[in-house]
Amino acid sequence: MHTHIIPKKLPNWTEKFGYGKFIYLEENEDKSANMMQGGQFFRRILENCWDEDLRINEYQQFDTQVQVVCTIPVLFSYWAKPQDGLEVSQFLNDHISDLVARYPKNYIGLATIPMQDTELAIQELERAKKNGHVGIQIGSNINDENLSEERFFPIFEACERLGMAVMIHPWQMMGFDSMKKYWLPWLVGMPAETSRAACSLIFGGVLERLPNLRVCFSHAGGSFLPTLGRIEHGFNCRPDLVAIDNPVNPREYVGKFWVDSITHDIDALEYILKMQGSKKVCLGSDYPFPLGDLEIGKFITDAKLSPQVVEDIFCNSTLEWLDLKKEMFL
Ligand SMILES: [Zn+2]
Repeated sequence: MHTHIIPKKLPNWTEKFGYGKFIYLEENEDKSANMMQGGQFFRRILENCWDEDLRINEYQQFDTQVQVVCTIPVLFSYWAKPQDGLEVSQFLNDHISDLVARYPKNYIGLATIPMQDTELAIQELERAKKNGHVGIQIGSNINDENLSEERFFPIFEACERLGMAVMIHPWQMMGFDSMKKYWLPWLVGMPAETSRAACSLIFGGVLERLPNLRVCFSHAGGSFLPTLGRIEHGFNCRPDLVAIDNPVNPREYVGKFWVDSITHDIDALEYILKMQGSKKVCLGSDYPFPLGDLEIGKFITDAKLSPQVVEDIFCNSTLEWLDLKKEMFL
């Protein structure tokens, strides 16, 4: 339920809009491509980032038929002017809805929406739903604002009303500039970002006010579940700081949201399963990126989990999170 895809051809938005560092792909001779951010090299990516048949074949090696696809967070472009952010979102969403229409048994789509503008975000959310998306992927912060900010609430409310699932993905990691060495933004910043998002949605009362909102946190919830004892203790010992917008203990929400299985560690996965229950842990891969679980689900198959738990992780949890029926893919 957590894979990233990009269209092979992207407009040169930096040129078109006349500002900013929009992502643009430059093809290499070896079939890879360089993601350029403005004019600067960002990352080299391989064909499996966009080649739909290759992706299906690579997945089949791990007996996996269906991929939930969403964009790569660096394309969120929340910093852009709202109308331009909407145009970027529409381009990316149309690419995915076309893909899902052509391969309904292999791909499920999550849209991106311009979170920098509440009205346009809801407009694109509604359009995405009409075009076959079953949810959205959003960042762990929006231009450094927490997801608890009131101006985001109508977006979450619209997701609940429309039955659109929400996947929270870490991006624009806190401390990025001060810890670039050793890949620390990815190793330290990302799990912290996801916990930041979970704490914001809980302490801000978003999950309390929208009990039917279906949220899934990336990377097994980042550092949220492993540090829940500390978070709960903080809630109890300094309610004047923590419980100001929602009086409910954060532990009450465990098992009400979903997380993916990307832990790379069976002990960590067992802990997550114990906390969440197997119906709330979904098979995620982060394919096709190197930090992902690229031998998709193998460490889960190799572990001594019950067949029911494995089946929940491999399909039931994702189907419930997205409100889809298994028969659609048989
Ligand atoms: Zn990811």
